[in-house]
Amino acid sequence: MPPLGEIGLHQFAEFSNGNYDGITYLDTFFVKRYRATDERLYFHELIHVVQWQLLGAERFLAVYAAGLEAHGYRNSPLEAMAYGAEEVFSRNTTAFDAEKWVVVQLSQMSAV
Ligand SMILES: [Zn+2]
Repeated sequence: MPPLGEIGLHQFAEFSNGNYDGITYLDTFFVKRYRATDERLYFHELIHVVQWQLLGAERFLAVYAAGLEAHGYRNSPLEAMAYGAEEVFSRNTTAFDAEKWVVVQLSQMSAV
């Protein structure tokens, strides 16, 4: 986790101090060892990889930070999208196009 508080972004203190089981930077994600076989978490982090790719790093960070500040972690738009995709993934028994799904979700976000 970047030291957001140390660089003056105190509004993200709660997020910075959070204990997350996975985190994604660009095309790489990390998960805690005890979740290493959790497909659903992998899928969640892969949705973030797609978000990073579609938005680009600068826009991803801007949209993520704005969403975090306005709505908190769980309800921030990019997290809500990843959790929503997890739901679709866990219900689906057939393959679906996750990238296309993210494109549609992003197009419905007014701030992007
Ligand atoms: Zn997430």
